[in-house]
Amino acid sequence: MRILIFGPQGAGKGTQSARIAEKFGIVPISTGDIFRWAIRVDSELGSQVKQYVEDGRLVPDELTVHVVRERLEQDDLANGWILDGFPRNEEQAHALDRIMDDQDLQIDAALILSVPQDVSLRRILGRRVCSNCGRNYHIDTPPQVNWTCDTCGGEVIKRTDDFDEAAVRKRLDIYHQQTEPLKAYYEKRGILHTIDGQASQDEVFARIVEAL
Ligand code: AMP
Repeated sequence: MRILIFGPQGAGKGTQSARIAEKFGIVPISTGDIFRWAIRVDSELGSQVKQYVEDGRLVPDELTVHVVRERLEQDDLANGWILDGFPRNEEQAHALDRIMDDQDLQIDAALILSVPQDVSLRRILGRRVCSNCGRNYHIDTPPQVNWTCDTCGGEVIKRTDDFDEAAVRKRLDIYHQQTEPLKAYYEKRGILHTIDGQASQDEVFARIVEAL
């Protein structure tokens, strides 16, 4: 199974991707996580993308597509994957089609989690993430012990790109201008499912499973 998941920042993509991956035995891949990890370990990729990620701008397509192609060629993906954060614009959608053609595979579903702008803004500004495994939390639903991840014991922190409200708003604008139009791209193929993301995590997950 190969799934794309879209939605504005704060829609719950990371949380739902992890649950979908677990249920269907597929691998969750997030370009944002790949970039954040590269920045954290100070790799060459990290130094190339750091400024873009912290400013809330998109990393250039050529570099992003290269990273995604390399990831999708790894051999842990026989059962499939769920891709969160890619494609972000039409150029990337075409690039993904080329990667899929080269692998003789196809995308089975494109999910959109829709939430109003004020809700996503509120969720992002309260969001915290495990610096080790990427699990998401919120200030209203913290880990059980002292900002230590319930899953892996890692330190739960605020994402560096969530600090600056102006940068957060920029990312939401980019989403609405460049990513949301991809809806039509996947709708034409008959694989688009729009899910109302304004409910509890369990309820949203149930809606996704039903759609899939
Ligand atoms: P996300 O975790 O998906 O919100 O991504 C965090 C940041 O990583 C974005 O604001 C971009 O700077 C960068 N990023 C993630 N995915 C992409 C992509 N597909 N194309 C370009 N930049 C990306």
